[in-house]
Amino acid sequence: MKRVCVTGAGGFIGHHLVTLLKEKGYWVRGVDLVYPEYTGVDADEFELLDLRRWDAALQATRGVDEVYALAADMGGMGFISTHHAQILHNNSLINLHTLDAARVNGVQRYLYSSSACIYPEYLQTETDVVPLKESDAYPAQPQDAYGWEKLFTELLCSYYAAEYPIETRTVRFHNIYGPFGTYDGGREKAPAAICRKIALAEDGASIEIWGDGEQTRSFCYIDDCVEGIYRIMQSDYAKPLNLGTDEMVSINELAHLVGDVAGKRHVDMKHIPGPQGVRGRNSDNSLLREVLGWEPPTCLRDGLGPTYRWIEKQVTSA
Ligand code: NAD
Repeated sequence: MKRVCVTGAGGFIGHHLVTLLKEKGYWVRGVDLVYPEYTGVDADEFELLDLRRWDAALQATRGVDEVYALAADMGGMGFISTHHAQILHNNSLINLHTLDAARVNGVQRYLYSSSACIYPEYLQTETDVVPLKESDAYPAQPQDAYGWEKLFTELLCSYYAAEYPIETRTVRFHNIYGPFGTYDGGREKAPAAICRKIALAEDGASIEIWGDGEQTRSFCYIDDCVEGIYRIMQSDYAKPLNLGTDEMVSINELAHLVGDVAGKRHVDMKHIPGPQGVRGRNSDNSLLREVLGWEPPTCLRDGLGPTYRWIEKQVTSA
């Protein structure tokens, strides 16, 4: 039985990934600062460790064949546009230590969770943006410290794979959403925040949207995300790969879709000043399709159903 470690296993994507890996028959160690907030622990072993520390990273990656490195100090636009120093400091330490500890412990394969935030700001200035392909990353100009740190760790992984006996995989996630993810408290992302606001709004009331709501994104459902992570780890492809959908919508369209799913067709939008990130972003999945013969199949409307219902249940029971 293969033994794997998932860091960030108390977080949104990490805890879903642990569940998938258990279903596939792996022995799994989950590592995080915290236990999963909304579910139990599926991992065989779960250790509370601070991966900013070298000794903790060594402990986390001992005795496993593979590491899925998902731990990060992160959140939605509200968080990443206002915590640059904290994000650059904490995530640099987490990633430097986890990758090197994996090497020292003789881990064979290491998957790094990068982000669409590495793409240059100058390619994302229009709402009808050209979908971003992997080779667009350079010349580099990510918008935030979060993206710069992700790009730095992508490079670190490629150098480690070239100079040490460890294989690496790098996945650039594009806006993952779904049930059992953060939906309040300041770190939530747009789909969860909009689901929460609509669940709390009376029919005929209005919800607040940051900016004019015309900024565009594509969103990827969590079940597809963890399936994609697993497939990329199994593949022979070592360079960065997008993992997202190319179904681009504006934030206003996203809010209308959530309203439909919620059965609240008369929720108005009040546009207020707030961080919006880049003007437009979409994933070019050509390389993903070529490498895996697969891409995330769930359309946004289908993924929003279970996401909205779960968040509605949380806010109404609270
Ligand atoms: P999340 O915040 O839900 O999970 C990250 C987990 O890392 C948290 O549980 C947190 O406690 C843990 N962590 C933070 N600091 C730690 C430390 N010092 N030691 C140990 N654990 C620590 O985020 P997520 O949405 O599950 O994202 C997982 C990964 O995917 C992250 O690397 C993130 O940057 C990346 N990513 C996510 C998205 C997305 O849309 N969710 C998009 C792009 C990239």
